[in-house]
Amino acid sequence: RAKSAGGNRFELADPEADARAITRHGLTTALPAALERGEFFIEYQPLVHLGDGSVRGAEALVRWLHPQHGIIGPDRFIPLAEHTGLIVPLGRWVLEESVRQARTWTARHKDAGPLRVNVNLSPMQLNHPNLVSDTVEILERVGLEPGALCLEVTESALIGADDDLLKPLRRLAEMGVDIALDDFGTGYSNLANLRRLPVSILKLDRSFTQGMQHFPADPVDLKIVEGIVALAHSLDLAVTVEGVETGAQADQLRELGCDTAQGWYYARPGPPDQLHELALADATS
Ligand code: C2E
Ligand code: MG
Ligand code: MG
Ligand code: MG
Repeated sequence: RAKSAGGNRFELADPEADARAITRHGLTTALPAALERGEFFIEYQPLVHLGDGSVRGAEALVRWLHPQHGIIGPDRFIPLAEHTGLIVPLGRWVLEESVRQARTWTARHKDAGPLRVNVNLSPMQLNHPNLVSDTVEILERVGLEPGALCLEVTESALIGADDDLLKPLRRLAEMGVDIALDDFGTGYSNLANLRRLPVSILKLDRSFTQGMQHFPADPVDLKIVEGIVALAHSLDLAVTVEGVETGAQADQLRELGCDTAQGWYYARPGPPDQLHELALADATS
């Protein structure tokens, strides 16, 4: 990366970068065997309805339990998997696991209404010709209704996307799969462009929520979020907020009209049974 970014001027002078590069190389070459050996696992972070506080589902977040290095977060290995193409089989594994999990939750909570699962998609998966057929096949084989699945795509992955790239997402949306625009507000998307995208949910990036950590929050930050929510709702998009860490943030975001929230205030990413327990608590309260 250093080379492609700016020549090799600093490479020799920076032994730390060297160590990082070795680690990166080591991790990259270990990825395929890790998938085969089942070293990946998924944590689920609850998605909560801001209006009534009920749990509506969870986002699937993949982790790697490395035999030497312990638990490694996705920010460290997803880019490597994306680079080598391993993200395609890894992403398919995450999708199938998550769809199975959503099916289990829903079967255990018939009264609670369907519990949905959100799965992150990498740009390379978006471009893969089997995205639609794989997704349909998994949903049918597992027996989950498409409406219980939401695929998260980052804003930057769709910047400048032409119609060919959008076609598979459109097909999935027509089937009833929700498409969410992840990390919204960090890219450079033209707001008017939103109308063209087959998305039904905007996930407002954590940086907006962070701006509300202090009380009173910066009035300009509030105006920006208020404006985004108004625009989203006028386009029939629901708004999910990431990174809610305090009750004060949750109150503020509810007042601003956001629909769903996710963050440490509600729950950290955890094992699938966490969602089961939270949904059970909902049903009995
Ligand atoms: P993301 O999709 O934006 O996921 C939200 C990230 O914010 C997660 O980090 C989550 O643990 C973290 N988070 C949630 N609530 C809070 C909070 O209240 N405060 C703070 N400070 N952080 C919070 P995580 O699990 O490290 O995942 C990082 C990114 O890795 C994800 O960002 C997503 O882009 C990617 N990722 C995770 N799983 C997958 C996957 O299966 N496939 C692909 N392609 N990408 C994945
Ligand atoms: Mg996400
Ligand atoms: Mg996100
Ligand atoms: Mg984010």
